[in-house]
Amino acid sequence: MAIRVEPDLNFIKFLKSAGGDTLKKCYQCATCSVVCPLSSDNKPFPRKEMIWAQWGLKDRLVADPDVMLCHQCGDCTAYCPRGAKPGDVLGAIRAYAYTHYGFPNGLAKLVSQGKNLPILIGAPALLILIVWFLSGGMHLPQGDIDFGNFFGHGYFMGLTKNVLIIDAIFVPAFAFAVFAAYKGVSNMWNNMAAQLDVKSDFRPSVPQFITQFLVPSVKEILAHKRFKECGTNHDRVNGHLPLLLAFIGLFAVTTYGMIRKDIVGMFVEGLHGPIPLSDPFKILANVSAIALIVGVGILWMNRSRMEEENNASPTFYDWFLITKIMAVGVTGLCAELTRLIGIPVLAYLFYYLHLVTILMLFVYMPYSKFAHMVYRTFAMAFEKYRASEFVQKTEE
Ligand code: SF4
Ligand code: SF4
Repeated sequence: MAIRVEPDLNFIKFLKSAGGDTLKKCYQCATCSVVCPLSSDNKPFPRKEMIWAQWGLKDRLVADPDVMLCHQCGDCTAYCPRGAKPGDVLGAIRAYAYTHYGFPNGLAKLVSQGKNLPILIGAPALLILIVWFLSGGMHLPQGDIDFGNFFGHGYFMGLTKNVLIIDAIFVPAFAFAVFAAYKGVSNMWNNMAAQLDVKSDFRPSVPQFITQFLVPSVKEILAHKRFKECGTNHDRVNGHLPLLLAFIGLFAVTTYGMIRKDIVGMFVEGLHGPIPLSDPFKILANVSAIALIVGVGILWMNRSRMEEENNASPTFYDWFLITKIMAVGVTGLCAELTRLIGIPVLAYLFYYLHLVTILMLFVYMPYSKFAHMVYRTFAMAFEKYRASEFVQKTEE
């Protein structure tokens, strides 16, 4: 039976603008599928994705788990005899998928384009500035430098004004990011199940889903098992690992800070000030900040080297995330150093920039390259689920 191919030209245009401009060079030799460390004999990729992308088969590509499983090691790009850069094309397809599945879709589209950078930086910067004005903090806090007074002095129900304002901004921002990521991943899962005709005889319960599919996928990612299989770009594991550990460390420190200031701080006033340098969590915070800068610095150099060697194309998706994470680390460290040295103007300025960069990281997470972490985890879980006894064995 003849299959009618209806290419989506806008989709091809998007791929070209997002780093997949070499797409047309592919002549289907399949070298990429042979060298890809993740490709299996019965389900080879990325050769098939290259032809689907040339044909503009958007619906097939966004429902293809292999696109999300790829971790952009660049091995296929290094060996492609035509310079078609399949690793970059897959990266561009993923960028499209984050926009396609993203919720709310308008925000996902906004975050997908470099031309919107002034809005992407300006909106959170303005929001925090307005809150600072309204909070009565229109002056630098007097006395010792204490970021706990950035939004002005005052107490409500035992909590400082600063704690309340920080919570009012960042708790909803984080909750929004989690909900948007959940919506995006659900859209992806449902679409994959529908397109690949994955039908269940009986559905797993939530605990079964977590223990049998999600936890093994998370463990695999944490162990960086697949990253270690990279050939041409094996240095990436040296950047990813400290970065991942840094995020885990900073998450632990943030949780500790919230318990200390938001809960125990209601009853013990002395806990509102800066955490002492000798506190184990403060040490963990500083070590994590350094690990974050080192990790993202390695990724920065690695990415630049790949681009110089023509093994990757510069894309907004890659550089927006790398510079955002670097900005979080550098502003945080500079705020801490200038506080310790005792330069209030610089310390509060860096603290303000630090808040802006963290807000950007949270709110844009579900649509930026950061989203790959979540989408990839669920794509891996989907593949495990698809191969399980829960699913009727009717393959595509
Ligand atoms: S992307 Fe390159 S290596 Fe892969 S099939 Fe096309 S030409 Fe061959
Ligand atoms: S970038 Fe790496 S993981 Fe992705 S398709 Fe190419 S070789 Fe495979």
